[in-house]
Amino acid sequence: MSQLRAAAAAAGGLRRSGPRVAPPARRSRKDASPRRAAPAPAPSPPCSRHLFSDPAETEALRSNLLAWYDRCKRDLPWRTRAATEPDADRRAYAVWVSEIMLQQTQVATVIDYYNRWMQKWPTLQALAQASLEEVNELWAGLGYYSRGKRLQEAARKVVSELAGRMPRTAEDLQKLLPGVGRYTAAAIASISYGQATGVVDGNVIRVLCRLRCIGADSSSPAVIDRLWDMANALVDRSRPGDFNQALMELGATVCVPKAPLCGECPVKQHCRARLRVEKELASASQKLLGKATPVPDVEDCGAGGCSLCPPAAEPWDSSLGVTNFPRKAAKKQPRVARAATCVLERRGLEYLIVQRPSSGLLAGLWEFPSLPLAQDLQEEKQREALAEHLQTWIGQPVVAGDLQLIGEVVHIFSHIHQTYVVYSLSLDGDVTLDPASSPSRWVTEKEFHASAVSTAMKKVLKVCEKQREKRSNPGQGSKRKRGAKAQGTGSTSPGTQLSLRAFLRPPTAP
Ligand code: SF4
Repeated sequence: MSQLRAAAAAAGGLRRSGPRVAPPARRSRKDASPRRAAPAPAPSPPCSRHLFSDPAETEALRSNLLAWYDRCKRDLPWRTRAATEPDADRRAYAVWVSEIMLQQTQVATVIDYYNRWMQKWPTLQALAQASLEEVNELWAGLGYYSRGKRLQEAARKVVSELAGRMPRTAEDLQKLLPGVGRYTAAAIASISYGQATGVVDGNVIRVLCRLRCIGADSSSPAVIDRLWDMANALVDRSRPGDFNQALMELGATVCVPKAPLCGECPVKQHCRARLRVEKELASASQKLLGKATPVPDVEDCGAGGCSLCPPAAEPWDSSLGVTNFPRKAAKKQPRVARAATCVLERRGLEYLIVQRPSSGLLAGLWEFPSLPLAQDLQEEKQREALAEHLQTWIGQPVVAGDLQLIGEVVHIFSHIHQTYVVYSLSLDGDVTLDPASSPSRWVTEKEFHASAVSTAMKKVLKVCEKQREKRSNPGQGSKRKRGAKAQGTGSTSPGTQLSLRAFLRPPTAP
């Protein structure tokens, strides 16, 4: 489901507002000549190999896919609720929560969060009464934290402005609920209300592009538009919710990105990418037998006129088989960022955490006091800046040299490659926090894990704890494999050098 689902939803959003059109340039008198620029040629309509133009084939595809779904679908809590909840508002709410959680996130991760969420807030009304802090606490670790916040804002809107009644069509859901894009609206409406509308998420994009050999950039608004048209035409009129889920399920479990299980695919007889592979294989074996090679009728549409074929510069690659499709423009590289963060401990019992601003990345979440760093800032300067930053939180001077460098933790946010340079500092005495500064509090380790903290901060604490363990038991370090990284993704620790130094030290006299 993951990233593509949200990308498709976003692309759907692009379509809603229409392509961005630059305002016409004001023409000077000189420009107002009778000469006119030649109009750009209209894109040619896609050829029939990219469409589902045979009603009998469409019917057969629907029926094969639904029969497979009935046999093989995964048992998921939101499906159970959608199938058994008699109240339409509760049903739509249950589907809505699942769809928001599944954006950018794997099904296996979502299940536990979903169950806890629905137990805590089984209705829109219950969610509307929750505090943002509670929402963030439950969401902690699921990532993309603005999703929970927007879900709650939209629930409040339904309760306060729509008398607690969920909009009943995809169009109204999208129009009236903040944070609900074209994909989410269509998923809620088809699954909860049986509206015959298709959906396009990352899984559907992959399946449709393979079924119909669509090799143009699948993240472009023009191709996404075509895929929406296709999904709307394909959706089963009597079981739209099941059909949409079946198409997504196929993409998630069979028609997977890297090694699709074409042999087990319930719609393989309708798949033109597979047909092309089969024809190539048949052609190759004919050649081996020295027979005339039949010309496969699976070539691209023509000399560059088709808006859905692969670009001429990137033709079909036989070594990739069906995974030639879909194709996407190269992803933008994530921004690289560095921050210094300090695990500040009081009396060996509690940690200081501070709250992030209420907007922007990780809005409203709690973290160890942190500050952004310039990429090339020397360690000495980092310490000084961090010491000064800590002083603003605890209201007493901090000696830069007392900060202990623990190592680095790398965390990838959707668009940021973030490195935290981790320091620690232990304070023996009591420290009173300044209530005038932004929210901050001392928490035990247990409270830290129950707070609305990001996964990155949990990694920071883990690396700190590992380092502490190692210091209290230095012998353990020598058991590590050379070059192994400290616990926690992408972290390194200066402490790993201790055993090496000990090893190189000249022997001392007995
Ligand atoms: Fe995907 Fe293979 Fe099925 Fe085609 S036959 S839809 S490529 S799994």
